[in-house]
Amino acid sequence: MKSRLIIPALLTLSMLSVGSIVQADDEMKWTTAELNGTSYYGLNLLRTFYKLSPADTKKGSKEYVIRNSAFSLGLTPGSREATISGYRVQLTAPAVKNEAGEMMISTTDFVKLIDPILRPTYIAERRDIQTVVIDPGHGGTDAGNKSTHIQESTYTLTLARELEAELKKRGFNVVLTRNGNHDMSDTERVHVADSTRNALFVSLHLNSGRSDVYGPETYTIAPADEHKRAMEGNRMDTANAALAFAVQSHMIAATKAPDRGCRRAHYSLLNTINCPAIMVMVGYATNEKEAALLMTEAYRTELVKGLANGITTFKTAIRPGATITVPAPPRVAEPPPTATQPVAKPAAPEKKKQATATTKKKGSGSADKNKRSSSGNKRSSSSKKR
Ligand SMILES: [Zn+2]
Repeated sequence: MKSRLIIPALLTLSMLSVGSIVQADDEMKWTTAELNGTSYYGLNLLRTFYKLSPADTKKGSKEYVIRNSAFSLGLTPGSREATISGYRVQLTAPAVKNEAGEMMISTTDFVKLIDPILRPTYIAERRDIQTVVIDPGHGGTDAGNKSTHIQESTYTLTLARELEAELKKRGFNVVLTRNGNHDMSDTERVHVADSTRNALFVSLHLNSGRSDVYGPETYTIAPADEHKRAMEGNRMDTANAALAFAVQSHMIAATKAPDRGCRRAHYSLLNTINCPAIMVMVGYATNEKEAALLMTEAYRTELVKGLANGITTFKTAIRPGATITVPAPPRVAEPPPTATQPVAKPAAPEKKKQATATTKKKGSGSADKNKRSSSGNKRSSSSKKR
């Protein structure tokens, strides 16, 4: 390992402009260690910078956690799975332990995931969000994922309209990319977002996968890492991460669904968009019980509340000195919800085919031109057909 000194742009900015942080950080040396071509920061640097506790591990757990009263970061050696304040996030590079036994996090994950959540005031390209562009996925001849209980293209439109009503009550302007059952290209959806000022973009989808997998996931475009290795990202990387975390955490808190985390992928819809943008997979069409639950008005009310809480949190968090505040995660993931309708017959052949597609297989014959996998996440067993 060789060490060198770099100061991320975000940190330089903070040192110049935030009194309370300047005092602690004038003397900090942002030394990186290189491992497998990736640069890392030691957790002690983060501890000092954010004034967090020494790393501790719970009995029987491999996760190292540093925390203060409002925030925690949990890292597991060799894993891209991490937790922020108890909610799951996917790292760009695995966390590692150095020869001295210190946990380390990649500089990309620090600058493009951790810092935007802890200090959203320093998000690049931040703006005063006034309008939410809601994008109901699919439509027209493209029905999206479906099962006995649910069809993605109609479900996302219903959910979009309910979310629209809730956001308007909270003072947001709302634009729907489509407000009827018709075909719409990604280019057209992006155009709606890009021609709306001071906006953020939320694309709503249902997931598909193994029949026993369920729970919401929120995606951002994978951020560019230092080597640009298969990670294109965009200039909204930091805003995307903070928005995704706010929405995913509030959605989990409201619905008490299992947290499948903030994840990264290469959906072409999100690639070029010029405002903070996320894709929310609110649940799995292929899980019979979750699909039935998603159709109930009571559950959708909680879902809409969670989505709106997350969006509101993001909007207010970019004020000077604010942070992304999240509720405590539900203590225990609840068992799969009980279906209120008869349990359907086994999945159709098409769905089985989707379920056996692993995250390693890219472009495995799917008709969805935007299909991409979320690479490297061993807990992600589902294909990423959006
Ligand atoms: Zn979809």
